[in-house]
Amino acid sequence: MARLNIIFCVILVAIAGYSVSWSEVGLLPTIGLAFLGLFLADIHSGFYHFIFDHFEFKFFKPFNEQHEMFQLHHQDPMEICQGTIDERLMLSILSGTYPTLLLLPFVENLYLHQLFFWFILLATFTQQCHSWAHEIRPPRIIKMLQRLKLVTTRLMHGIHHIPPYTKNYAIVTGWSNVFLNPFFDWLGPKLLKSYGKIIENHE
Ligand SMILES: [Zn+2]
Ligand SMILES: [Zn+2]
Repeated sequence: MARLNIIFCVILVAIAGYSVSWSEVGLLPTIGLAFLGLFLADIHSGFYHFIFDHFEFKFFKPFNEQHEMFQLHHQDPMEICQGTIDERLMLSILSGTYPTLLLLPFVENLYLHQLFFWFILLATFTQQCHSWAHEIRPPRIIKMLQRLKLVTTRLMHGIHHIPPYTKNYAIVTGWSNVFLNPFFDWLGPKLLKSYGKIIENHE
């Protein structure tokens, strides 16, 4: 089922890529927009992770499963590496790729349209980047991307797994943690009495 969904998603993303006016936007703006898309995917991952770490979604099973998965992830962080890439991609497709794909046809500005495309493409790898941050031996190319800070590192994401579990929610590149950390420090206690007690709540 996950594989079929991924094939469907790849077709949709390919159509989205085909709808982008690459030549009219030009090479340099395309590079800039790709980096901006990566940054936005990282910000999205921070909010996505914060929300699913703390909130149940009993009214919508696929989202509630993600909440339970994040809770279990805090009990056994290495378990994420046991799953398949299909499962990890599916989680990100449901929470980022599909909702943004629905908006894409309504974005007429050429630059904004391309930015949406980059976000859609890169946000698809949110949970995969998370998994690579836990792997002791990620693929060599990923290790290189981690050294270049284009994918979040074991060191940066490891901080999230240290009590009180409220730092470094962003899990794509980790670039946005520098300002998301103070933001969630401010927002978390306002929303949740149990902020920072993820594992204790689950026991
Ligand atoms: Zn977490
Ligand atoms: Zn983790």
